[in-house]
Amino acid sequence: MKQSLLSQDASLIASTYAKVDAEFVFGKGAKLFDSKGKEYLDFASGISVNALGHAHPAITKAIKEQCEKFAHISNLFPNEPQIKLAQKMLSLTKFSKAFFCNSGTEANEAAIKFARKYFNDRIEIVTFVNSFHGRTYGALSATGQEKLKAGFGPMLAGFKHIEWNDAEALKKAVGKNTAAIMLESVIAEGGILTPSKKFIKTINELKKQTGCLVIVDEIQAGFGRLGEISGSEFFGINADITTWAKALGGGLPLGMVLMSAKVAECLKPGDHGTTFGGNPVACAAGLAVLEIISKPKFLANVRERSAQLKEGLKRFGNVRGEGLLLGLEVQKPVAEIIAACREQGLLVLRAGTNVLRLLPPLIITKSDVKAALKKIDVAIG
Ligand SMILES: *Cc1c(COP(=O)(O)O)cnc(C)c1O
Repeated sequence: MKQSLLSQDASLIASTYAKVDAEFVFGKGAKLFDSKGKEYLDFASGISVNALGHAHPAITKAIKEQCEKFAHISNLFPNEPQIKLAQKMLSLTKFSKAFFCNSGTEANEAAIKFARKYFNDRIEIVTFVNSFHGRTYGALSATGQEKLKAGFGPMLAGFKHIEWNDAEALKKAVGKNTAAIMLESVIAEGGILTPSKKFIKTINELKKQTGCLVIVDEIQAGFGRLGEISGSEFFGINADITTWAKALGGGLPLGMVLMSAKVAECLKPGDHGTTFGGNPVACAAGLAVLEIISKPKFLANVRERSAQLKEGLKRFGNVRGEGLLLGLEVQKPVAEIIAACREQGLLVLRAGTNVLRLLPPLIITKSDVKAALKKIDVAIG
C-alpha cells in the first residue's frame, strides 16, 4: 500500500513542524484541491504569501518568461527585474533605496546590521514582547517570544523587549544607546495585536528626541494586506527602514529592505551581500503581483472584504486586526477549531494562544467571505 505523504514526511523530514494530514494536488485562485478531490477555501494563503491566490496567470507568465531568459546571474551584475521591482516599490513608499535578499528573517538581519552600521557606537535594538521577526540569530534575538529561543541560547547582545502598546515602558527603554526601535506594523503570529495611537505617537516622538532609527517589519502585514501597500504608512509610523518578504515574491522566496537615503549612505561595496538575493525570477514574479495589488480598485476590495469579514466574525467573539489580517478570539482550544474548519473545507491558522488567524488571499470575493463565515459557523458550533 502506498504510504501517505504525511507518514513519508515523518520518516524523511526533520520534525520542526507539526504537519497536517492533507495532500494538496493543485490550487486555483482562493481554492486548493486535495488528492481525494476535496475543495478547500484557503484562508491561510501559505502564511500570508499567496496574495493573488494559487496559480495566478500573471505570476505564471512572469516566471516562465524570466526563466526562458535566465534564472540567475548573481549580484555582481545589475539585473532588470530587480531594478523594476525596486523602482515600483520605492515609487509606492517614501524610501530611497532597496536591498534584496531571500526571506523575511534575512531582511530583518540586514535591517539590524544596517541600523548598527549607521551609528557604529549605538548597539541597542528595542523590540516587543510577542513579536516575531524570524528564526536566524539576529531576527530570533529581536523576537519577543521566549518559547522560540529555548535551547538555542545565547542570543545576540543588545536586544531589549518591551511590552507592546506600553508607551511609558518604551520611553524608559529608549535612550542615547538605542540604534533602533523595531516593530511589526501589526504583531501577527504573536496574537494579531495592532499598535495604539498613543504608542505610535510615542515611537515617533522618541525617534525625534533620541535620533534612533525606526525599523518596521512589514513581512506579514505589508504588501496590500491592510488595504495599503505599507503597514507603517497605514498606521502613521515614521519608519527609516522597512522589511518585506512573504507575499513579495508571488510565491517564490524573496525578501527586501527599503531604507531612507541617510541609512543607504552608510553602506558601501562589501558591507553586506547574498548570492541569491533579488533573484530575477522571484523579482519578476513579485513585480507581476505588485502591479496588480497596487491598483486602487484592488486595494479597495481588500478594505471592503475586510469590513465584511469583520462584521461577519463579530457574532462568534472578539475580532482583532486590520485589513485581511484578522483574528477571532476563541474559547475552545484553537487547534480543535482549526481542525473542524479544515473538515468543513476551510484552511485557517492560529495566532498566539487563543486566536484564530484569518489570512485570505487578497483576491477573495464577497461570496468567498460568505462561504468562509458559514464554514466557521459550523466548525465553532
Ligand atoms: C514570517 C515572518 C518573518 C520571517 O520570515 P521568513 O521568510 O519565514 O524568514 C519575520 N517577520 C514577520 C512579521 C513574519 O510574519
